[in-house]
Amino acid sequence: MNPPNAHRPYNFSAGPAALPEEVLSQVSAEMLDWHGSGMSVMEMSHRGKEFISIAEAAEADLRELLQVPAQFRILFMQGGGLAENAIVPMNLAGRGGSGQVDMVVTGSWSSKSAAEARRYADVQIAANGANAQGHYQSLPAPQNWRLRPDAAYVHLCSNETIDGVEFQELPDLQALGSRAPLVIDFSSHVASRPVDWSRVGLAFGGAQKNIGPAGLTLVIVREDLLGHALPICPSAFDYKTVAEAHSMYNTPPTFGIYVAGLVFQWLKHFRYAGLTGLAAIEQRNIDKARLLYETLDQSALFENRVAAHCRSRMNVPFFLRGEYDTPQLNDAFLAGARERGLLQLKGHKSVGGMRASIYNAMPLEGVQALVAYLKDFEAHHG
Ligand SMILES: *Cc1c(COP(=O)(O)O)cnc(C)c1O
Repeated sequence: MNPPNAHRPYNFSAGPAALPEEVLSQVSAEMLDWHGSGMSVMEMSHRGKEFISIAEAAEADLRELLQVPAQFRILFMQGGGLAENAIVPMNLAGRGGSGQVDMVVTGSWSSKSAAEARRYADVQIAANGANAQGHYQSLPAPQNWRLRPDAAYVHLCSNETIDGVEFQELPDLQALGSRAPLVIDFSSHVASRPVDWSRVGLAFGGAQKNIGPAGLTLVIVREDLLGHALPICPSAFDYKTVAEAHSMYNTPPTFGIYVAGLVFQWLKHFRYAGLTGLAAIEQRNIDKARLLYETLDQSALFENRVAAHCRSRMNVPFFLRGEYDTPQLNDAFLAGARERGLLQLKGHKSVGGMRASIYNAMPLEGVQALVAYLKDFEAHHG
């Protein structure tokens, strides 16, 4: 247990990930009796006036925060990012009759998306960012993507959580000669920066990286993309059905929507560097990422291997360099981190090393504490 008034440990988990402490405190305070209703949010009918007010506020706050245009529908679903890898093609691949889907592969998550979409569509890999060793450390330039004129949609993952590769700008498919809508998996950087909706047809993401507990999946879809589901698509996953029922076709993940709504409120009022709301959280994310990448780049012991132009602001994989990269030194680093209250820094099992996920809820002080530890560790072992 922590001594009174000490801060909680800093949690660098890639997901489910840290939530803002203010939100957790509010959830705790409202747990037994939400706003005098005599009920926990978990115990409310999803069709009662209390929960409807919670869901409507969450949706309105998200729309305002991300500046989602009126012709987009916001859906609260279940199944996570992985289920969307099937739900998206089941809803969109039938549009236009070609059955074609073009996929941009830039890391582990988009690879999985492509493999799943093959079960429902004629998938072409428009570009693959892997280098000769099979690692994803850079983004293929959009001018070189192979895009088919009749594709039903083009898919990409705008932030690769495992590889630490992020699109700093979404491609303008129209300028590349494509008429297809762009689908983005923004699971791991949703609400960390603005979205250019003029370039997007559909965005999806699991909540557990940046906006709430696992179990809630967010889908933001342009209205003209509704109503094209394949006959095999389950009704509960047909975007048109879900949209018409205002995400209440079946019981939605009510508690997840409630917590996400509190996170949206927290974000709307977030202040940093003279800014408010999304601009403020984005600036703090930029500052946190810059501090960490600069430290790694100046280190003789640690390194990040992603090209500078596409380094993720959210997920920073790092490794011990060359001869230092032994299991003993990796373990010593992680054990020392835990002792300092720096949690869940182990890298994904597919790439090894370390990974610091520094989502919206991570304060600047958490990254400063990590940087101090990196320097201390280097002083002792470098
Ligand atoms: C975590 C993650 C997923 C998978 O989400 P689940 O909720 O586990 O299905 C998909 N895409 C990205 C980019 C992710 O970070």
